[in-house]
Amino acid sequence: MADLLKTRGLLDIESLDRGTIQELLDRAKFFQPGPGETYKRLESLKGKTTVNLFFEASTRTRVSFEIAERRLGGDSISIAAQGSSTSKGESLVDTLNTLAAMRPHAVVMRHAASGAPQFVSRHLKLPIVNAGDGTHEHPTQALLDARTILDHRPTLTGLRVAIIGDIAHSRVARSNIHLLSKFGADIVLCGPPSLLPQELAQMAPGVRLSWNMQDALAGADVIMMLRVQLERQYESPMLASEYFRFYGLRPEHVELASPHVIVMHPGPINRGRELSSEVADSQRSVILNQVENGVAVRMAVLERILG
Ligand code: ASP
Repeated sequence: MADLLKTRGLLDIESLDRGTIQELLDRAKFFQPGPGETYKRLESLKGKTTVNLFFEASTRTRVSFEIAERRLGGDSISIAAQGSSTSKGESLVDTLNTLAAMRPHAVVMRHAASGAPQFVSRHLKLPIVNAGDGTHEHPTQALLDARTILDHRPTLTGLRVAIIGDIAHSRVARSNIHLLSKFGADIVLCGPPSLLPQELAQMAPGVRLSWNMQDALAGADVIMMLRVQLERQYESPMLASEYFRFYGLRPEHVELASPHVIVMHPGPINRGRELSSEVADSQRSVILNQVENGVAVRMAVLERILG
């Protein structure tokens, strides 16, 4: 598996084995800064150039990859699709071939099409790190989510995780389902019927579906809220207020979960749609810990691929 990571990069969680995931999580722990410190500075990527190619908007993921690349002593260049030749009609493969001719050592890429990094990886002899492809996967998000859970709980095995919101369009949900299921967590997926495809119950062992927030939250150890992906919805979406009434997380919901529950969200959060400010800013929220772990996890991934 290690060699595959080095040659192919990180395309998804589905094809990773549990041992490799555990190693990445352990290494990410090593990269976590202590109180009042910043991330360690190493030279593992010295002389290595990474291109970060973002065809979709990003704040957390892009900046954390950039910080990770620099803290590891590598060089990096970030390109947003709006500023690149794709806006002049260049195809994805032509853009990637052009970039590859400039001899980077790896490409981190985000794309609106599910499967785009896998497609590119078949054409280029360069490790590709998937920073989110359509509704398919967001592997580094699932790794940082697992790191965050393990900072609060001893194990993922047997943990009750409620993933709530726009499951249909969420690559975050899919990567998390793969990862959590490999470690034996019990997962309940909850959302409005139109955003909760029935076939996801068969996606991995330990997954069940519910349309009811109260049912999904009962006894949960982890609540993972998801953003409503308006950019991927073609039918008119529910109004924010209507959505919030049925699927927005409020303090009374948190009461239904286990007393030591943690509340997560991959960001960007929409207060008053997916969750209330009381919950987002409460002691139970680990949303900023997730952001912090984003850098540590991406350092571990890049070091493993390029170090
Ligand atoms: N930032 C995450 C992603 O890119 C979650 C989201 O945008 O809702 O998938």
